[in-house]
Amino acid sequence: MTGDPPLGSCPKCGEGLSGAHVLVEYEKEDGTTGIWAECPICDEVVSPQE
Ligand SMILES: [Zn+2]
Repeated sequence: MTGDPPLGSCPKCGEGLSGAHVLVEYEKEDGTTGIWAECPICDEVVSPQE
């Protein structure tokens, strides 16, 4: 247990991404928070999916 809540999963490989992987949080035009995270499997920056 790390206490790190899961953000979602990588859209490419399905790996679960947590706060430790977050690179950037930003506010979208609709007021929701968007996240860019680095997937440790793909070694790419992705937008985590629910
Ligand atoms: Zn991935």
